[in-house]
Amino acid sequence: MTNKYTYFIANWKMFGNLKTLNSLNNVITFVKKFKKNKIKLIYCPPSTLLSPLNNKLKSTSIDLGAQNCHQGDSYGANTGQINSHMIKAVGAKYVILGHSENRELGENDSLINLKIKNSIKSGLKIIFCIGESLNQKRKKQTKKVLSNQISQGLKKIRNKKNIIIAYEPIWAIGSGLIPKGTEIFEIIKFIKKKVRGSKVLYGGSVNIKNINTLKKIHNVDGFLIGGASQNSKKFIDIIKKTFN
Ligand code: PEP
Repeated sequence: MTNKYTYFIANWKMFGNLKTLNSLNNVITFVKKFKKNKIKLIYCPPSTLLSPLNNKLKSTSIDLGAQNCHQGDSYGANTGQINSHMIKAVGAKYVILGHSENRELGENDSLINLKIKNSIKSGLKIIFCIGESLNQKRKKQTKKVLSNQISQGLKKIRNKKNIIIAYEPIWAIGSGLIPKGTEIFEIIKFIKKKVRGSKVLYGGSVNIKNINTLKKIHNVDGFLIGGASQNSKKFIDIIKKTFN
């Protein structure tokens, strides 16, 4: 890890309710005692939990993020959507954009680019997800795919200091599979060369078993964790093991 902080970002996806938030008491206690200047923890719950979680995280060092937002810069007749101003107003500092689960629902690079631009204008930091499919990996197109996602997604964004990139191979998400350590190292190096000065995280099936391998990849600045972040004990164990 080359960085001051190691990021641990919890993506709860479409899981969780008010009761689930109680399970975070463990994490809050753990973080208070843990090497504070070494980790940056960010929770991204579904939007129904942003406000109650913001209350819970007040006076902790844990930050809040949303999982997506509408691309618009203003308020409007967009049933079921929330914009980046609303996310900022509820107390969140981050928003995940470009997640493959939303790309699969039809989000393309130019839509993601608009979301990123307007979210930055609202004062949010971006967790920008990129990644290749298994088919693209087999065809050795990974770098080409990532390169396109980066240049389209970050088009006309000069100041990238509020953008964290999460490399998430689609085939690794929720599958229990991860790329080889050497592959992740190569890809992170490639991304960092393309977006100078960026922090780059790895995401996709991070768990208590593979964290020993993942933590040895020196250019990774942290992890975006889905499934394993929904269980506080597992999440804490992954953080502990990263530093053991
Ligand atoms: C994700 O969806 O961002 C993710 C990393 O999921 P999982 O850890 O469950 O593979």
